[in-house]
Amino acid sequence: MFRLHDVSYTYADSRTGGAALSHVSAEVAQGEFRWLLGPSGAGKSSLLSILSLEVQATSGMVEILGMPVMHARRAALARLRRRIGAVRQDFRLLPDMNVFDNVALPLRLQHRAEAEIRHEVHAIMKWVGLENRLDALPPQLSGGEQQRVAIARAVIYRPDLLVADEPTNALDERQAARLITMFHRLAEMGTTIVVATHNDAIVRRYPAQAIELAHGHMVRDYNG
Ligand code: ADP
Repeated sequence: MFRLHDVSYTYADSRTGGAALSHVSAEVAQGEFRWLLGPSGAGKSSLLSILSLEVQATSGMVEILGMPVMHARRAALARLRRRIGAVRQDFRLLPDMNVFDNVALPLRLQHRAEAEIRHEVHAIMKWVGLENRLDALPPQLSGGEQQRVAIARAVIYRPDLLVADEPTNALDERQAARLITMFHRLAEMGTTIVVATHNDAIVRRYPAQAIELAHGHMVRDYNG
């Protein structure tokens, strides 16, 4: 779960001179699925960066998986980060490593046995329909394929919190629907999930609670 109370965030090199997030408060329980909605520039990516511990809020209270992160020690934050999966808009795959090794990375960081890693990677890559591309390098893949690899890497160790930034934007309609169904299944198994999207059609098709931002402010926190 996570709790945000009165959270504001300003980039050091703010392009607009204003805050990317202003006084945002939200509370999401373990195993809930939330949409994060709002037009481009509303603050969605910034909010996801705070939730994935990539940046620290400028002010306010942030509690993630029971830990207040504002004054947490680095080692504690590093441990917490390992329980969070993130799918970023630019995928952040390592271009010189093949698909297998990219997806295996979180498990290798957990020092899992190589046989187990092989089993898990094959299972998740089959699920995303890319079991035949394990030897490819990310630059050899289409945008949609890279997005599916990034999703596989984010969910392979069953994180307690999963944040995804426009995870369907490079997918076709069928793949997008399949992904959201999978996210709902993960939520039922206890993962808290926040998905930022512009895709109104998919939000209508999979109604769920949503946090809606505009100009860095929370417009509403509602049941879709
Ligand atoms: P969204 O994901 O909803 O499109 P963002 O969180 O990316 O919104 O952006 C919120 C605001 O922060 C915008 O005004 C944007 O220009 C600004 N911003 C985003 N990233 C940066 C950055 N790296 N440096 C400076 N300003 C940024």
